Amino acid sequence: MSVEHSLPPDLTVALVERRPLLWINEGWLPLEMAQAKCPYSVQHVYDAERRMHSYANLLSRLFPELVESRGVIDSPLRSAEPLRRSMVPETGEWGRWFIKCDHELPVAGSIKARGGIYEVLVHAERLALREGLISADEDLSALASDSARRLFSKNRIVVGSTGNLGLSIGIVASVLGFQVNVHMSSDAKEWKKERLKSLGVQVIQHAGDFVAAVAAGRAQAQGDPHAYFVDDERSENLFLGYSVAARQFCQQLAETGTVVDSRHPLFVYLPCGVGGAPSGITFGLRHRLGDHVHCFFAEPTASPSMLISFATGEDRPVSVRDIGLDSRTEADGLAVAQASELVASFMRPFVSGVFTVPDDHLFEDLYRMQCTQGLRIEPSAAAGFRGPDWLVRSPAGREYVANHGGLEYMRQATHILWTTGGSFVPEQEYAEFLKRARGGSPEA
Ligand SMILES: *Cc1c(COP(=O)(O)O)cnc(C)c1O
Repeated sequence: MSVEHSLPPDLTVALVERRPLLWINEGWLPLEMAQAKCPYSVQHVYDAERRMHSYANLLSRLFPELVESRGVIDSPLRSAEPLRRSMVPETGEWGRWFIKCDHELPVAGSIKARGGIYEVLVHAERLALREGLISADEDLSALASDSARRLFSKNRIVVGSTGNLGLSIGIVASVLGFQVNVHMSSDAKEWKKERLKSLGVQVIQHAGDFVAAVAAGRAQAQGDPHAYFVDDERSENLFLGYSVAARQFCQQLAETGTVVDSRHPLFVYLPCGVGGAPSGITFGLRHRLGDHVHCFFAEPTASPSMLISFATGEDRPVSVRDIGLDSRTEADGLAVAQASELVASFMRPFVSGVFTVPDDHLFEDLYRMQCTQGLRIEPSAAAGFRGPDWLVRSPAGREYVANHGGLEYMRQATHILWTTGGSFVPEQEYAEFLKRARGGSPEA
């Protein structure tokens, strides 16, 4: 079946014309039904939480910035009231807004911190166990020892990335002593590559896009018995590492006095590239909060890969190139033409919908974030900011709300803008973002 035939014609036209739109997922299901069709259970999330916790001592030993949090990798939840006032002057139906600040995540400076660090540490632990370097119940701080380092230095970690995953994997893997090869797509920003090279990571630049960079990485690792490939299109551990976010987030939300139930819905807006990070978070949130948390993914109008995968309803992801889009966007973290095979196969029932964002809005909202909240994000991280607007004002959004609890509860709703990267962006680079937002061309 060709993509054009399995996508509704009017949706195809709107996507091809790059019209921003909200797509409501008719495949959404209540938690129990979604669960019945899914290869992962809440037990997988709990296991990942426990495992991440078991790395805490090791992490605070490896990274001075984690000493204070005792090895816990987390970001603040902040009130977005100043931002809200600048976007919607009236109150009423707009509810309360918060920002989940994953752009501030320590170690990697992006949402890739959780998934990437988890994936590398699980691999390191397995290697060390296999080689008899640690025993099963030993404190994992031993993974930072000289003998562990010697072991890891004979092994290689390979990854394909548009930038941030490479940064996250490269930082953790090189600190442990691994040899690291990062295959970068053409979208990757220069400073991300430079930062990796300064850590001794080998960066391989490709002229092609994310799919090509991932393929090159996979091919390299296949020919090398000492190489491990971090597969952003298929990795279970990346997905589970991301899902750990839900636990701390729910705690933070409770601390603000926020209730989530049928009369107090929670809307979460998540920037989406290959789909792993937003899916992991959504999966964790649905298990903790049930059917009154409504998770929406946000994608660039140039690269709505997850939207297309969900809308075709096929288990195998399809490329945005198949409908004539080029996937070129300044949101380098989201410049992914084809969704993750892993999450496309089972996430559909968990997700409420997907909306698309043109690059101009990303820069406007990045600038607004600086002016109103004093927070520094990269363009990808602004993708979710128009979420409340879609839900409150658009016919499709209002219909969704009416079908899922009722419009009368929108006053009591809470909206979460989940930011995903930016705190590591160099000063000069960030100044260019602001300049573009104010109407200057990016090169000027
Ligand atoms: C990777 C990334 C995302 C999305 O995560 P995926 O797993 O690719 O969907 C969002 N924002 C930023 C800044 C990222 O680097």
